[in-house]
Amino acid sequence: MFQPEHEALAPGRLAELQSDRLVRLIGRLQKLSSPFWKAKLGGLEPGSIRDIRDISRLPFTTKSELRDNFPFGMLAVDRAEVVRVHASSGTRGKPTVVSYTAADIELFADVNARCLASAGGQKGDVLHNAYGYGLFTGGLGLHYGGERLGATVVPASGGNPGFQVQLMADLGANGLACTPSFALLLAERAERDGLLKTIQSTLRYGAFGAEPWSEAFRAKIEEAWGGVLEAHDIYGLSEVIGPGVAAECTASRGSLHVFEDHFYPEVIDGELVLTTLTKEAMPVIRYRTGDVTSFVDGECGCGRTSRRIARLAGRVDDMLVIRGINVYPKEIEAVLLDDKRVSGQYQIIVDRRSALPEMMVRAELAGNLSTDVRAELASTLARRFQERLRLRVGVSIGEPGSLVRQETGKARRVWDVTSADDPLAPLLARQE
Ligand SMILES: [Zn+2]
Repeated sequence: MFQPEHEALAPGRLAELQSDRLVRLIGRLQKLSSPFWKAKLGGLEPGSIRDIRDISRLPFTTKSELRDNFPFGMLAVDRAEVVRVHASSGTRGKPTVVSYTAADIELFADVNARCLASAGGQKGDVLHNAYGYGLFTGGLGLHYGGERLGATVVPASGGNPGFQVQLMADLGANGLACTPSFALLLAERAERDGLLKTIQSTLRYGAFGAEPWSEAFRAKIEEAWGGVLEAHDIYGLSEVIGPGVAAECTASRGSLHVFEDHFYPEVIDGELVLTTLTKEAMPVIRYRTGDVTSFVDGECGCGRTSRRIARLAGRVDDMLVIRGINVYPKEIEAVLLDDKRVSGQYQIIVDRRSALPEMMVRAELAGNLSTDVRAELASTLARRFQERLRLRVGVSIGEPGSLVRQETGKARRVWDVTSADDPLAPLLARQE
C-alpha cells in the first residue's frame, strides 16, 4: 500500500474526513464570483452542507457542462494558478479541457502511485509506460505515479510495438502500464520477435485501463504473456482527474478500490457518480461518469478500507440497442473470448442500413490452429450469442493475424455502417 495512513483509514474516520472536505469545498465554491459556480450552487442555502450524507442535496454535473464552459469556465482558481491542462480525446464530440494546479498535480501523482502499488508495483521497479503522452491523461498520469512510487519509468508512449518490446527486454520491465488492447498486442509482438522469454524473466504486473475489458480478455492477456503477468484493472477519467480514481488490488480480482478520501463515489441507477473532494483547479460535483457499475460489499484482504466498485460493465452511451435488445460491447467480448480458439482481436460491426439493425462480429483464429475449423467455430459462436444474449449475431472468423492491430489510443471495437457508400459496406456484402 502506497499511503496506508489514507488508504486504510477506519471507516468512521474516513466519513469524518469526507464530511470535512466536502464542507470546505462547498464553502469555497460558494464564495467564487464565477458565473458557472454561482449558477451551479446558487440554489443552495449557505450552511446546508454539514456532512458527507448531505451530498444528495447537491446538483449533478454532466459532460455537456464541461463542453459548454470550454475552456476555463468551470475553474475554481485564477487561471494563473493552473500549471497544466489535459484534454479528452474528443471521441464523443468536442474535446473537453481539464485544468490542474500544482497541488492537483501532486494529488494526481499520489493516486497513480496508489494504483501501481495496488497492482503489485514497488519502489525500484522498471515501469514500462505505454499509455499515450500528451493531452491524454494516461501517459503523464502513470508517469508521475511511477516516479512517485519510486520506480524507474520508461516513457515509451503509444505506437511502435517492435521497438517497445525490445526496450522491455533490454531494460528489464517489471511492470507494464497501457491499454489492455495494447498489452495484448505487445505480447503478440514479443512472441513473434523471440523476446517473450527474456521479458517473462522480469515482468510481474500490468496496470491496464482506459477501455472497458472483460474477464475473458484478462485471461487472454495473462496467457499471452505466459502466465507471469498479473493483469490489473485501473480506472479513471479526465473529467475527474485522469487515471487514479480506482484500482484493483492483488486481493480482489473483479472489483476496484475507489480512492474515496479524494473522489467520493455514488452509484445512481447503475451509473457511477463522482465528486472530487480535494481538487483545486476544476472540482466536479456529482459528475455523471456514464460508467455502469455497482458497489461491492465486504472487507478486502488487502487492508484497504475504501469502498469497492465492480469492474465496469460498459458506458451508458456505449450501449447498443439491436432489435430492441440492449447489449454492451463488453458482453460480446466476454462470449467471444470465452472460446480459446479465437485470438483477442475482434470488431463489432453494426449494420444500420435497414430499419432493423444487424450485428456482425469479425474475429480471428488464435495461432497454430488449422483453418478448416473456421466455419464450425463461426456457427458455434453464433449459437452462443443467441443463447446468452438472445441476439442474432453474424460471425466471421479470419486467419490468425488477419485483423488490423491498432497501435495507438483507445482500441475501437464498434463500427457502425450507416449508408451504402460506407467503406465497410462492401466488406459486409462479401461476407453475407
Ligand atoms: Zn483490496
